[in-house]
Amino acid sequence: KVKGNFTKNYAFYDESFRKDKLFAQNITANMERALKDKEFKVYYQPKVDLKTGQMIGAEALVRWVSPIDGFMPPGQFIPLFEKNGFISELDCFVWEETCRFMRECHDQGLPKLPISVNVSRTDLYNLDVPKIVCHLTNKYQLDKKYLHLEITESAYNEHPEIILKVTSVLHDLGFILELDDFGTGYSSLNLLSEMSIDILKLDMRFAQNHTTNKRQNDILSFILDLAKRMGLVVISEGVETKEQADTLRDMGCGLAQGYYYSKPITQDEYKEMLMKLKGE
Ligand code: C2E
Ligand code: MG
Ligand code: MG
Ligand code: MG
Repeated sequence: KVKGNFTKNYAFYDESFRKDKLFAQNITANMERALKDKEFKVYYQPKVDLKTGQMIGAEALVRWVSPIDGFMPPGQFIPLFEKNGFISELDCFVWEETCRFMRECHDQGLPKLPISVNVSRTDLYNLDVPKIVCHLTNKYQLDKKYLHLEITESAYNEHPEIILKVTSVLHDLGFILELDDFGTGYSSLNLLSEMSIDILKLDMRFAQNHTTNKRQNDILSFILDLAKRMGLVVISEGVETKEQADTLRDMGCGLAQGYYYSKPITQDEYKEMLMKLKGE
């Protein structure tokens, strides 16, 4: 009986494993072509000032719009690309596309706001990130302060010395660094004092759970207080309701990003928001 159950579970497991493997193979076989065929699109999600509700910038987020598989969110392919190394090629594309787009907005006389791009930990090991982003800001004649770099907290877990070095170089060059998904990566508070970062991006569970979880709420107050003492700006990710926005603002959080304000939007939609901002 026991043996029967085991076999059944095993067969089920094997089947889903096979499907995952096929999915991964299909993605890997198509990624280079997809990049050439411009199937990767960069969307922009507004960041806002919690006090005024005004847009103060955006984050560039990649999507794969495939004629065969449709619209794919990054959660489905980024982890694979981080394993097979393709992430670095894709990120270079996203960084360049973002710089090109900012240049276009500036040339059209739209308000100059910074846009942040995601930097995978793999990029920090595989690429000369400072050289690449300097090349891009030169090519598109952008002040470095407009290109923010988001590095996830967990990137510091494996080889903190490498990451600390690269981020301090980037910071000294004038780029603004944001520590992404803060609160999920197990970095010690001591490490926080050594990192050259300007902005703490709180993982979305803080925005979403603090009203229901007393302890989470205490931790949130503590982080906001600590950030203030350290002179760090805090942005809350994943703000979905007015209630969450109000509470975060009352607790002293300065900035927010989330569906309550806007989903990630296309270039044209983002330009429209810049135009509205100009009119205000
Ligand atoms: P992230 O950098 O932490 O980006 C925030 C994610 O939260 C985005 O998911 C965004 O669409 C989503 N989000 C924003 N507001 C809300 C909200 O109110 N509620 C909820 N539930 N979600 C919200 P997305 O676009 O699916 O990206 C997922 C992750 O994939 C990103 O997390 C980032 O780690 C990675 N990623 C996305 N684009 C890139 C890229 O170009 N390069 C690299 N290396 N990673 C990327
Ligand atoms: Mg991010
Ligand atoms: Mg994040
Ligand atoms: Mg995240």
